[in-house]
Amino acid sequence: MARKFFIGGNWKCNGTLEEVKKIVTMLNEAEVPSENVVEVVVSPPFVFLPLVESLLRPDFQLAAQNCWVRKGGAFTGEISAEMLVNLGIPWVIIGHSERRSLLNESNEFVGDKVAYALSVGLKVIACIGETLQQRESGSTMAVVAAQTKAIADKVSNWANVVLAYEPVWAIGTGKVATPRQAQEVHLELRKWLHDSVGAEVAATTRIIYGGSVNGANCKELAAQPDIDGFLVGGASLKPEFVDIIRSLT
Ligand code: PGA
Repeated sequence: MARKFFIGGNWKCNGTLEEVKKIVTMLNEAEVPSENVVEVVVSPPFVFLPLVESLLRPDFQLAAQNCWVRKGGAFTGEISAEMLVNLGIPWVIIGHSERRSLLNESNEFVGDKVAYALSVGLKVIACIGETLQQRESGSTMAVVAAQTKAIADKVSNWANVVLAYEPVWAIGTGKVATPRQAQEVHLELRKWLHDSVGAEVAATTRIIYGGSVNGANCKELAAQPDIDGFLVGGASLKPEFVDIIRSLT
């Protein structure tokens, strides 16, 4: 089974009502390849999800940027996975490095969250990636393998998981991984999946790259055999996001 190219737009904690409407208008007017060729998933902040859902073109999908680790209840300030299902939001981003570092989300917590979100029927963009210090000390593969293992320990069905490799040093810094650096880690991750989870999961799971992807660097990255798409932050708020959606063409 071919891996369909996947483009995620992570809006993070950005946007006013007016700005969000403008971005949606821009997306709705864009000429992009069919959804049979590229899967596009945008992720506005929680409070804008229902509005974007009501305005966004039907061939693009929505993701939340996080959800709670178990069934909702007395967890002030959290949003449950069940609520996302209830709203018809198909995807959720879990384990983004900003949450891992700023909110101390551990590998195990992220693994639990991925498993819970999948169990209620959400699809998951699960994020992993090393810091600059970890890369410079030569532990990139050990770090991303441990992050992936914490997910694999809790998840038996990978059909609804997209793995996002996002080196922390490349996020929001303008310092993109070279196509070679990214391909190298993606290939290693695929080998890890092959050896630790299974050949079928390794062959079918999409591994997407994130970290300063933009309209200028996306084509060369997209041409790498093990890069199956992107998770885009800053550039997903700009017209160049459309160029990134078209990066395979
Ligand atoms: P960036 O963010 O594209 O702004 O580097 C990517 C991400 O955090 O998902």
